[in-house]
Formats: sequence, C-alpha cells, structure tokens
Amino acid sequence: MRGGIPLAGILCFAVLGAGVAGAAPAAGSSRDVSLSTGGSFTLSLSVENRTPAQGEPFRVRVSTSGAVDNLVLEWMGGTYPVLETGPGRYEGVVGVDLLDPPGSAALVAEGRVPGGALLRAEVELVVAPRKFPVQELTLPKRMAEFDPPTLRRIREEADVLKSRFERVTEPIRWRIPFLPPVEEYRPTNFGSRRRINGEPRLPHAAVDLHLPEGTPVRAIAGGIVAFAGEQFFGGRSVVIDHGGGVFSVYYHLKEFSVSDGQKVGRGERIGAVGATGRATGPHLHFGVRVPGGRVDPSLLLGLSGR
Ligand SMILES: [Zn+2]
Repeated sequence: MRGGIPLAGILCFAVLGAGVAGAAPAAGSSRDVSLSTGGSFTLSLSVENRTPAQGEPFRVRVSTSGAVDNLVLEWMGGTYPVLETGPGRYEGVVGVDLLDPPGSAALVAEGRVPGGALLRAEVELVVAPRKFPVQELTLPKRMAEFDPPTLRRIREEADVLKSRFERVTEPIRWRIPFLPPVEEYRPTNFGSRRRINGEPRLPHAAVDLHLPEGTPVRAIAGGIVAFAGEQFFGGRSVVIDHGGGVFSVYYHLKEFSVSDGQKVGRGERIGAVGATGRATGPHLHFGVRVPGGRVDPSLLLGLSGR
C-alpha cells in the first residue's frame, strides 16, 4: 500500500552502481519485486495496472532515495518528464493508444545520480484487448465524400494538429484528479469503429457529450492553448497542452474564448458547446492524449487523488 492505494501492479527496484545492469522483474507474485545491488541509490518504479487495455491511461509512480538528474519515463518509443510530488517522489500518466495491438510493452524510468551513474528500472506490461462498439452511420453523400480541395484542407489541418501533439513541453501543468470538461458528464462513443455508408472509417478516438448549445466548457487541467481555431471536421476547436505530453481536445464549439499560446487554469471556461464543423447536432467531442497515445477520457478523469 502506498498512500492508501493498493499497488496491484509491479514494484521494481534497480539499484545501480557502476557496471551493474538493470534488474528483471521476478515472476509469479502479484507484487513482483526485484532488486539489484551495487550502489547506495535506489530508483523504484510502480504501476497500478500491469495489464492496461487498449485506450487505457494509467498512473506511474517513481521514487528515488536521493537526488536524481533528468528523471524520465520511456514508453512506446517516446521519452517523457515526470511530475515531482515530494522529495524523491514523482508521478506520471501514460497510456495505450486505442489502436495499439495487444501484447507486451516495456515501461522504463531512468535518471542519473550526481556523479554520473545511471539508474534504470523497467517493468514489463501486457496490453490487453478491449472490445469497441461498431457504429453504422448513414450520411448524405456530400457529408461523407470530399472533393480534392477539401481533402487537401483536411490533410493540412491534420498535419498542424499532429505537429502540436508531438510537442512534449515542460513544466507539467496537469494534476490528478482531472476535472470533467462539463458539469453533466455523460460520455458516449469512445473507440467506436465507425462505418459510414457501409465504408469503414477511423475509430472515434474521443467521447461525445450531448448537451444543449451554449453549455459552458472548461479546461480539465491547467495548460497552454496549443490550438484554437476553425477546422473542417472539428469546427471551432481548442486543444490544450497540459505539459509532459498530455493534451485535451474540444471540438464543435459554438464559440471559444481562448487563443493560441494562452495560459489557462484548471476549470477555466474555454468556450461553449455547439454544432460547428461535421456535427449532426450540438455536442462536445472531447478527447485526451497522454504519452503513448489517445486514451479513453473517462478513464483519465477516473484517476483519483493520492
Ligand atoms: Zn465525436
């Protein structure tokens, strides 16, 4: 137990002096611990869930026995900073993209002790499959098929957003718990495998919140506005960069009241629910990204305080 939260996952110690390799987790217990010795510093890495599902975010805790420089998490090919929560205590949120295949994946925490020795702890996770609903939609042809200029616009807008999502900024401005973006949070459609007029389309990497036009929308955590503008699909759209590779996305807004580069606080009103862009009625399309990819926003909101 740590802070009242059971660690169902793994606790891995790696104590590394010069020339001592990282420890592999022991098998066969619900709380695997491995320890290698060779120095006076320890670095431990723990997760609450060793078998995260597709589209699932999860919390990572790191603790160190002394000062460590450049402490980072390595996950799914990226390197991410962690949030310092106390002396020698750190946390991060990472996740599994909803399209990532089931199978094993390594999570690593790494830092350097003053003087140069590298501390490294690794846990082996297993991504579990999640069953997503299939959604059949019938739309008028003009809403489902696009001419070349429109396709070019769609591609350009996607490229702009992709480049924003690739930024891993500091400081980390998010905190657990995250705040729902609207007061009445009733999510639908996460991960729906969509078929439009019989043709398979990209899965729905967000939730839809059906609410009256004009309902206030607020930031789920502090951050910097990474995008505020008009898009073909998203209509009036806002993206907030919460730092460390965590983003929230708000589409189809009636209006937005923030601008690119603006700092926003947790719970600050950023706009109102609308039906702009490709929307069949007023709703908020709300998505989140964490290190690792696009995850179920409801699971991110469900992460509880320590
Ligand atoms: Zn949507």
